[in-house]
Amino acid sequence: MIILRKLIQFALCFVFLALTNLQAQIIKVTLLGTGTPLPVMERFGPSILIEAGEQKFIFDAGRGTLQRLTQINVKYREIQGVFFTHLHSDHVVGFPDLWLTGWLTGQRVTPLKVWGPKGTKQMIANLEKAFEFDIKIRISDDKASPDGVLIKAEDIEESVVYEKNGVKVTAFEVDHKPIKPAFGYRIDYSGRSVVLSGDTRYSENLIRYFKGVDLLIHEVVSPETIARMKYPTERAKAIIGHHTTPEQAGEIFSLVKPRMAVFSHIVPSTATEQDIIPLTRKNYSGAVELGEDLMVIEVGEKIEIRRPIAKTN
Ligand SMILES: [Zn+2]
Repeated sequence: MIILRKLIQFALCFVFLALTNLQAQIIKVTLLGTGTPLPVMERFGPSILIEAGEQKFIFDAGRGTLQRLTQINVKYREIQGVFFTHLHSDHVVGFPDLWLTGWLTGQRVTPLKVWGPKGTKQMIANLEKAFEFDIKIRISDDKASPDGVLIKAEDIEESVVYEKNGVKVTAFEVDHKPIKPAFGYRIDYSGRSVVLSGDTRYSENLIRYFKGVDLLIHEVVSPETIARMKYPTERAKAIIGHHTTPEQAGEIFSLVKPRMAVFSHIVPSTATEQDIIPLTRKNYSGAVELGEDLMVIEVGEKIEIRRPIAKTN
């Protein structure tokens, strides 16, 4: 009887270790926000959580990043760092909330690393100045950790910008002119790879980095939806000209052949699946999904997608 119990314990232990090990080989991607500057409830500002083993990183911190993080029960204190693709406000406007409220309510006690294009260090220094009053009072009055509010910011160039415990993050320049530089990121872990396009129009550089990637998360603009919004012609042209149309994205996917393509940063945020997927299909027949807030994509042996069951707001 005792031997049987021991055997069962051993088997359970083995299954647990095997599952843990499988989990450790997955890159888990959560789309925290798939929107744009438009203040709509269905799509919060651009932000993506990447979990690789024990490490957690946020790419862009648009409006509502901390709320979405809280919805999936991830604490700000667990985040190792934040990467910015570029400094357009919709990609950074959620950062002060993530940083300060996350620090105060989440009891962070260690500094945060932040990487981004030229201007990132200065933006962070200015934020520290802007919130000087709150930072001082939270430390003296609320006894928040002085180390937990520190930010170690770095202006980066196109290169490998992070490499630790098997996780490699590579920044590459994309074409979001006149916003320059604007980066996309490639994340490698345990033989799996994820590429985030950032904001870009069709870019050769981007295709070069995407080849053979497991998961490609790409931005998209829907000219039809913009036309319905009746913007002045010049404004409409400018918005479309900064981004990638569904047909162009289809071409990119066909050249890159990712195992899975997912659209995030849907411009404008009100564009529907019908506005985007059929046009993408003109040039691409592989796997593609329209992203939504809190969608989870697990990149492992298989690529599994989980959409949020309940409405998220
Ligand atoms: Zn942008």
